[in-house]
Amino acid sequence: MIADMDTAVLTRPAVLILLGPPGAGKGTQARKLEQGFGLVQLSTGDLLRAAVAAGTPAGLTAKAVMEAGELVSDEIVINILRDRLAEPDCAKGVILDGFPRTTVQAEALDRLLAESGQQINAAVSLEVDDAAMVARVAGRYTCGGCGEGYHDQFKQPRVAGTCDRCGSTEMTRRADDNAETVGSRLAAYHAQTAPLISYYDGKGVLQRVDAMGEIDHIATSLQKVVSVATT
Ligand SMILES: [Zn+2]
Repeated sequence: MIADMDTAVLTRPAVLILLGPPGAGKGTQARKLEQGFGLVQLSTGDLLRAAVAAGTPAGLTAKAVMEAGELVSDEIVINILRDRLAEPDCAKGVILDGFPRTTVQAEALDRLLAESGQQINAAVSLEVDDAAMVARVAGRYTCGGCGEGYHDQFKQPRVAGTCDRCGSTEMTRRADDNAETVGSRLAAYHAQTAPLISYYDGKGVLQRVDAMGEIDHIATSLQKVVSVATT
């Protein structure tokens, strides 16, 4: 039986990796997992900023590297992550967002977790239908008067070109909300993520969750996956 979201209890610290293309609702779902399971979402950018601000040894190394205009190495990120995972708020587990990005980083992460007898519980891939995603994003437009959102297919104003709410006829489209841009963002995501997907598939921890439905339905599917993967 799956525990209710409010009462979900993990029997051991969970290490989850959340993978999903732009527009799949990754941020929303990560927040729901944080609330439901007491997990902490760790993104690489936040980790770096916090370590630099705290002036930890790894943070100071990262700061020097960044000030020299160089890229922060995998080793530095791993060291920062090691420090962060040891903090009390991570006791119930973490959701990693944006790390690892490569199989080399994934292997380094496995070694780090092995130091404390841990391993990845699940690498969750939020799966989208590319064509549907393109249609969803590319059809969006917004009222310039009041900011109301519309969509070519899913939400037309009652009078074409006129806002239902404020009557304005100034409709605007974001330059990057077009089929070509959305398509290439998805292609770049798939190209970057494919090696990770097969890496975690090979380890038997890959979980695919359909991310095309309602937010709450996706959250329920994710919750089941996390519950099973951590018990
Ligand atoms: Zn309007």
